[in-house]
Amino acid sequence: MDKFNIAIDGPAGAGKSTAARLVAQRLGFIYVDTGAMYRAVTWKALSLGLRPDQTDAIAAMADSMELEILPGANGQIVLVDGRDVTEEIRSAAVTSNVSAVSQIPEVRARLVGMQKRMADEKGVVMDGRDIGTQVLPNAEVKVFLTASVKARAARRFEEIKLKQPNITLEQVEQDQAERDRMDQEREVSPLRRASDAVLLDATELNPEQVAERILEISRASSGKGA
Ligand code: C5P
Repeated sequence: MDKFNIAIDGPAGAGKSTAARLVAQRLGFIYVDTGAMYRAVTWKALSLGLRPDQTDAIAAMADSMELEILPGANGQIVLVDGRDVTEEIRSAAVTSNVSAVSQIPEVRARLVGMQKRMADEKGVVMDGRDIGTQVLPNAEVKVFLTASVKARAARRFEEIKLKQPNITLEQVEQDQAERDRMDQEREVSPLRRASDAVLLDATELNPEQVAERILEISRASSGKGA
């Protein structure tokens, strides 16, 4: 089977990462979670005591920091300056600051450049917000994955409630709505469905079913897929 690229975009909590990982496993492709890269830059900024509005300092830091994305047994491993931050980039502090940091054009330029290079040889399933529109506009398969606000909040709540026992479902829903608003309204590469992306609503689907639908879309849109 020839290799090809799959771009998966959509709002927070739609289930992109789980589905993308399953699709990559099924096809023997590499899974790239681009949200983790923006989280890594945010983690480093916070650990240096920078606020998201210190854009010049964050831009300079993003330019010089070492960022490595390695495929691991349970998904992607993220190293910042050689340190494994895979768990730490999921903290509440990173989550609530990442959309502001992602608006900084220099941060996007550095990460988009890395992402394009990672997909050069094809055989990549990449998820994010601007993959079909900016990073891989020529991806053979493009999916825009969404789900109802309630379903997306419930999914994220299940993921984080053990780590953040005081959080409520309402709080998760509000945080997600704010993050989506910032991602959709930012000037550089806002979250948008590419005109040639297939819209997939995951409200009533489990991750296996979402992955199956993406494989079907791959077969239909390019005659590819297992
Ligand atoms: O996918 P995840 O929720 O981990 O992404 C975290 C944040 O990173 C998003 O809310 C968005 O602000 C930013 N992001 C982005 N472009 C991408 C992927 C993520 O701006 N391609």
